[in-house]
Amino acid sequence: MQISPNKVISISYRLTLDNGELADEATAEHPLMFIHGIGQTLEAFDDKLHGLETGAEFQFSLTPDEGYGTSSPEMVIDISRSIFNGPEVPKDLLELGNMVPMQDQDGRPMNGIVLAVDDQNVRMDFNHPLADQNLHFTGTIISIREATDEEKDHGHVHGPGGHHHH
Ligand SMILES: [Zn+2]
Repeated sequence: MQISPNKVISISYRLTLDNGELADEATAEHPLMFIHGIGQTLEAFDDKLHGLETGAEFQFSLTPDEGYGTSSPEMVIDISRSIFNGPEVPKDLLELGNMVPMQDQDGRPMNGIVLAVDDQNVRMDFNHPLADQNLHFTGTIISIREATDEEKDHGHVHGPGGHHHH
């Protein structure tokens, strides 16, 4: 069986950056499982795996345009410190370098990295942590199967290695 859209793929992989730093990995014991061709991973990542068979090894690099984009100064934003004053807010939330889960105006989740804090404002960087990076992937195709109708419907993998909800 070859990888094509709506197949459930299980892979082990390593993602490294230009400086050799390991940015992410999935081992054969705890592989990454996803449905191919539906936007669960980067589109260019899906494209590079297309047509590979079980057991195949892969090695490719993605540019920032194919990956997580280029960083933009407009994504560094000063936010009023007052919104972090609730009783439920952990004391160490605003430590420099922390990644804080936030929402945009439309309620979509975004992560902000704390760059600076003063009495009035918290400066946060909402650029993707892997923006501006070339992404170097190596890995192995562990298994390929058809997605079930329910998985296609939900847009994610069920069963071992997948979602366990409902
Ligand atoms: Zn589901």
